[in-house]
Amino acid sequence: MKPVKETSGTMHMLADLTWVEAREAIERGAGVLVPIGALEQHGPHLPLSMDALAVTEAAKAVAQRLDVLIAPTISYGCRSKPLSGGGPAFPGGVGLEPRTYMALVENVVRELLRSGFERIVVLSGHWENRQFTYEAVYQARQPDDEGTARVMVIESLYGDTVRKSTLDEIFGDDWPGLAREHAAIVETSVLQHVRPELVRADRSVDDAQERFPWWDVVPAPPEFTTKTGVMWKATRATPEFGRKIWADVVEALTTAIDEELFSGSRAHRAS
Ligand SMILES: [Zn+2]
Repeated sequence: MKPVKETSGTMHMLADLTWVEAREAIERGAGVLVPIGALEQHGPHLPLSMDALAVTEAAKAVAQRLDVLIAPTISYGCRSKPLSGGGPAFPGGVGLEPRTYMALVENVVRELLRSGFERIVVLSGHWENRQFTYEAVYQARQPDDEGTARVMVIESLYGDTVRKSTLDEIFGDDWPGLAREHAAIVETSVLQHVRPELVRADRSVDDAQERFPWWDVVPAPPEFTTKTGVMWKATRATPEFGRKIWADVVEALTTAIDEELFSGSRAHRAS
């Protein structure tokens, strides 16, 4: 693991704190961020933990800018779908059933609330977790519950965070949409930037589904996914694209969390 760059004497990882330090963090109003990923195929060149790695690195970057702790990453996510992630046929992937996933997320959020955290962010980077994450948070923090604690839900790492100008620069007229761009330019570039030692660059390929309809089918026809698990042009990825995408992601996340939970004060890390 790349060491977290410390910008103050405060530790970022909730699991590294003692209960006394956790209490101090809660009392000063620190937030806590729960990264959620998946164990899902990401082509022959990216690790199964791609989504978990990305949200964890994003959380570390945010924690250098805002007073938020990072809860241990939830490294499993909902079942991969053939159209959007390749599906369960690829070895190594472990998908949770929605009820398991929701019970896990709901349980973690409820426990963080019980501990006294008032500012919680749930950040999921895996496509198929969407809506189940919101629902789990909803169950953990019903609107009519007493107290002022709030839970912010972010269900996509790249969906609304990457600026259009960045996408235009990278993709030009060749942007297939985020749903289809799996294990391809965005994710490969990002990992080349944040954890380059984990990219098997010599195994990177370009690929595409033969069919990408707007509906789904169970069981999915084989042409709904690819043999490699890459859904677009992964060989076009570059560390420089990754740097640009990542700068947008970190800035958007920091700004959004600051605005929503810290009233835009950039509640800088307590010194
Ligand atoms: Zn992914």
